[in-house]
Amino acid sequence: MKVRADTSVCVASGMCVLNVPDVFDQREEDGLVELLDEQPPQERHEAVRMAVLGCPSGALSVEE
Ligand code: SF4
Repeated sequence: MKVRADTSVCVASGMCVLNVPDVFDQREEDGLVELLDEQPPQERHEAVRMAVLGCPSGALSVEE
């Protein structure tokens, strides 16, 4: 799995950070998403998929 986060679309809701804090973070300066782990381990894939679905702006995507 490869995760992508588009900061030009992110609205800094922080949902992804709350749900998968080992993969997503928010930038100090503007709260936009910051990808911590572009290729998370297998056991985090389901949580990442849920974060993609739960992102209100469609900023997140995964390539399986
Ligand atoms: S859930 Fe989406 S909009 Fe919210 S911080 Fe994460 S990437 Fe940005």
